[in-house]
Amino acid sequence: MVKPDSFQAMCVRTLKESGARLTKPRLALIDCLANADSALSPKEIFQRTESLLEKSESIDTVTVYRILDRFAELGLVHRVAPHGDYIACSHLACESAPHIMTRCIQCQAAAEMHIPDDIIAPLLWFMRTQKKFEPKEHLFQLDGLCETCTLKNAAVL
Ligand SMILES: [Zn+2]
Ligand SMILES: [Zn+2]
Ligand SMILES: [Zn+2]
Repeated sequence: MVKPDSFQAMCVRTLKESGARLTKPRLALIDCLANADSALSPKEIFQRTESLLEKSESIDTVTVYRILDRFAELGLVHRVAPHGDYIACSHLACESAPHIMTRCIQCQAAAEMHIPDDIIAPLLWFMRTQKKFEPKEHLFQLDGLCETCTLKNAAVL
């Protein structure tokens, strides 16, 4: 059963609203992203999506790139810098924005985190009024060390 606020359901709704057709390759790609436990490269997404499809419904890498581009435009997926891997948006149901994408520089683990409004608001205010910059994106990225890697590094020392 697909829950109404699941990534799959939100994707289907957004695609329908944008007038996009729900082809089997697109649905397979959505499943692939929904089940991934980390950010995936377009090549990995292509391989996993292909394995979900029957022989008669093949997909090629160009199509995968095109779908990912479109999904990113619609905010369904995010590109993680600097490798350009893709991760499913895990906050599609959130009204409040923005979120922070954390990426571990050691193990590459990426996660989209919800930041409480009272923490993010002063930063947005500062950017707007002091730096004359209007943040528009759904999220921004912070690179650093995840908890697992921090503990691992401490154990080695
Ligand atoms: Zn998101
Ligand atoms: Zn890590
Ligand atoms: Zn959120």
